[in-house]
Amino acid sequence: MGSGRAFVRRVAHPVVRNQARLASTAQGQAIKKFINHGDDTPGLSCKDYSKTLHLPRPPIPPYAKVTEIAEAYSERTTAALYRQQWEERKDKEFFILHDGPPYANGHLHIGHAVNKILKDIINRFQLLQGKRVHYSAGWDCHGLPIENKALVGLDPSASPTKIRQVSRHYASVSVNIQRREFEQMKILADFSDPWTYRTYDKEYEIRQLRVFQQMVKKGLIVRRYRPIWWSPASGTALAEGELVYDDSHKSKSVYVKFPIKREDMSPELRKGFDSTLLEDLNFLVWTTTPWTLPSNMAVAINEEIDYVIARGEHNIIIAADAVEPLPDKMGTSLGSDILGTKYHHYYQKPDAPPNPVFSARWVKADSGTGVVHCAPGHGADDYFTMTSAGLLEDHPLVSPVDGKGEYTEDILGHVPHSRLGGSLIGRSVQDKGNEEVLRQLREAGRSIHVKQIKHKYPYDWKTKTPVITRATSQWFASIADVKEKALKVLENVKFHPEAGRARLESFIRERSEWCISRQRNWGVPIPALHDIATDEAYLSAESLDHIIPVLEKHGIDYWWEGPVEDFIPPHLQGKNLRKGTDTMDVWFDSGSSWSLLGNLHGEKQEGGPRISDVCLEGSDQHRGWFQSLLLTRIIAAAEGEETAPYKTVITHGFVLDEHGRKMSKSDGNVISPLAVINGTEQKSKLPVYGADVLRLWTASADYTDDMAIGQNILKQSAESYRKLRNSARFMLGVLAIPNKGPVDQLQSTKPGMGLIERWIMDRLYQTERTCREAYERYQFHRVVHALTDFSTISLSAQYFSFRKDAIYCDAQDQTRAAIVTVMKNLLHVYKGLLAPILPLVAEEIHEAEQKIIRASQVSRAEELTLEKRLNKESVFMQPWPVVDSAWEDTEARETMEILLAIRSSVLGLLEKARAGKGLGSSDEAVVYLADASSGAAPHHVFQLLQTHEPLLSTVFGTSYAWTTSQIPNNTDQNAWEFTDNIEISQCPLTITVRGSPKTKCPRCWKWTKPSKDALCERCTKALM
Ligand SMILES: [Zn+2]
Repeated sequence: MGSGRAFVRRVAHPVVRNQARLASTAQGQAIKKFINHGDDTPGLSCKDYSKTLHLPRPPIPPYAKVTEIAEAYSERTTAALYRQQWEERKDKEFFILHDGPPYANGHLHIGHAVNKILKDIINRFQLLQGKRVHYSAGWDCHGLPIENKALVGLDPSASPTKIRQVSRHYASVSVNIQRREFEQMKILADFSDPWTYRTYDKEYEIRQLRVFQQMVKKGLIVRRYRPIWWSPASGTALAEGELVYDDSHKSKSVYVKFPIKREDMSPELRKGFDSTLLEDLNFLVWTTTPWTLPSNMAVAINEEIDYVIARGEHNIIIAADAVEPLPDKMGTSLGSDILGTKYHHYYQKPDAPPNPVFSARWVKADSGTGVVHCAPGHGADDYFTMTSAGLLEDHPLVSPVDGKGEYTEDILGHVPHSRLGGSLIGRSVQDKGNEEVLRQLREAGRSIHVKQIKHKYPYDWKTKTPVITRATSQWFASIADVKEKALKVLENVKFHPEAGRARLESFIRERSEWCISRQRNWGVPIPALHDIATDEAYLSAESLDHIIPVLEKHGIDYWWEGPVEDFIPPHLQGKNLRKGTDTMDVWFDSGSSWSLLGNLHGEKQEGGPRISDVCLEGSDQHRGWFQSLLLTRIIAAAEGEETAPYKTVITHGFVLDEHGRKMSKSDGNVISPLAVINGTEQKSKLPVYGADVLRLWTASADYTDDMAIGQNILKQSAESYRKLRNSARFMLGVLAIPNKGPVDQLQSTKPGMGLIERWIMDRLYQTERTCREAYERYQFHRVVHALTDFSTISLSAQYFSFRKDAIYCDAQDQTRAAIVTVMKNLLHVYKGLLAPILPLVAEEIHEAEQKIIRASQVSRAEELTLEKRLNKESVFMQPWPVVDSAWEDTEARETMEILLAIRSSVLGLLEKARAGKGLGSSDEAVVYLADASSGAAPHHVFQLLQTHEPLLSTVFGTSYAWTTSQIPNNTDQNAWEFTDNIEISQCPLTITVRGSPKTKCPRCWKWTKPSKDALCERCTKALM
């Protein structure tokens, strides 16, 4: 049956569908009817002639069988391919993409998929550029979320070793889950253990300790006493990420007076006010944490706002616009006049020096009284501002609160007499201790007003109890001295998007020290030894020289399990020591991962670790990994050899739902990457899309901003995927026809080639160049855009539709061979352009293409061996299909632009004929183009049309198209006619479309047949 061909001639899309499918559609039935009854040519029927056509034989099914494809091509496009290129390309240039490790906790979400797929597109593009790609996927395995999960099932008295054991198990289970899930995204990587890394691997931990040792050696690791978030309920320090905020926390707030002696007033203050106002003068502070008042070390004002003295029982200084209005505000003075003034507070010893006043821009008139109580031992903001103001250099922090949140005996060292301190010791600062402070202040007449307020306050996310801030001894990496070097090396780093540079720089500038110690069990130990009596810490390059080999021999757990004696280096022998219990901040774990690049899959690198060509993570990592990777690298580098760990930093946004909302379980709008690949239970919700559709969605979104995903968006991606694949399928179908003639390579050189072939080769050249540049610039949505345009417009709607007639019906001569050859080149380049984004479909096309090419070259006997060999040849081991610039063809492009513009008008007229005159196929029509310019000689655009007259009917899809100075009269009374006047490149044209004066050829269906008894001239020749 030849109905397949009939279908092709009627539908816009070039794909030949199979008989069964055709018969099942209404359109198919109509076509069959038309074939059987619509023509009565004697001799051969349509059916018989159709056998003489060269119809496409697509070797791949019309709809991708995604599950089968994934099974068939996975290995050769992922793990095996990765290992193969690593082995075979030893002499090739490296491309290193260092993987920022995801946290090993639970299943993957769509953000993980975006991250890995974007990385993969880059790697695959580089592989096609002939590079040797290094990509070792990693996992971040230590830290609190995992430890907390482990603790859930453990007895509260569980030993550190037991906690570590359970944590490790939990992390390894997560690693395995994520490994299997990443594999389904068809990433160019071997996800098995030897080819990947985990921060709990012993080798990793030892390497990390060596990096740490370098930092210790340079004196950059210091122990400091500093305020941190603390949960009295959990008895642990907390990181910012471990806090949740309660908007309706209740606190008792209090207004407290800090008296100012006359000799402590600044000269400006003394001069600016009447001396009666200066009698009994006080600062009035307002605080929501009265319990921190004994630790007050300064007050902050803002030198740029106005302050007044309010007269009452006592005179008090407050901001002129303070929230609480007070009567009798007298005089105004700029904050700067107050600077230099000092004061005393209730909890100071009488002989203690007065406390300073300093200016901070964050102080606002409407925040309390505009005079802010600062207790740097109980507030990170206070601590940082006072540190920057140089106020803490000679003054140790006051923080007399223990891990249970109770006042300690230390308070006696600060307060004026033991009775005052004694009634606070052992009392909780969140409860009785706070009440006692309020009572003492009230009794002493120091407080003015107490009121309960509701405000936002941090809670321990785990115990859901309020936290406090207290100072503890922690290990810090000192950043101050390396900051400038870090900023300097960033000058040579490229950022995409460029805004990332300023972000990363600002995070580095803001940081002066990095607290690297945590009071946790599940992590890499900070192997310090402490004097049991004094708690003095010993940590030096020398002590680590002794300790690290012990851990290397026995494993990291030995720090918790082994006797302290085993860790005491010779120079500390005889001291009474204990092992430190701090572990390292997990940002130090993942941050030191650049050190992996000193050993690429077992190949040691001369001259130290390499630099990653690209690092790509979510935009939140400017604050996190990009920073910790850079800082550890700079800190550990030898003097003068500081380099950034990356050459290019790429960041991506977050994934939102179709309405721009954050995904959350409670909103029910979460889309998991695995659901996109494998479908969901309710088939109507998400069908089985396969990895390529997920990847196409990822590539088509502009990832520099937030991305949207949802059922409709995925449906569009699936449709684009189908179209992209179908263009390849059509070309494969053409190549699979037993074509005669030179189709191995482009035999026809450009000058001998027709306009249409020159034009499509120019389009291919432009598309390849656009895609290559966009891949190089990491703008994958531009690749998708260029490829989709090329596939759906240039190929499907234009080139295929122009050339189907010649391919199906022409004799197998040189002209037709040239078309097939061009088609072959189009396919070859096209699959390469698709490959980084759609590896499975590219592999499917590649295999089908190779089979066709080889089948034409080898005997049947060789086919089996060939089959085996073919299975090993991935499309990614081919070179990138550069289109030679010789194919750039401005002339062909400009000429075709004119022809395509006229075509639009012709198609418009044909539509009118369809609607008004029952025109079926455009083959029934002919076109006249007349020069409507008034010049004596034909317009040069018209001359161009005359030159290309033989091609016009091909472009218009009509049986004939003529150029003429005057359109001939319509002599056939029954024939219809439609006319349009247009102007193309300043050339006025009259276009007339008429029914063909000839009849329909039963073989090619063009209305070019002169008489009833014959085929058309072209078909006659084709059958000779
Ligand atoms: Zn014909």
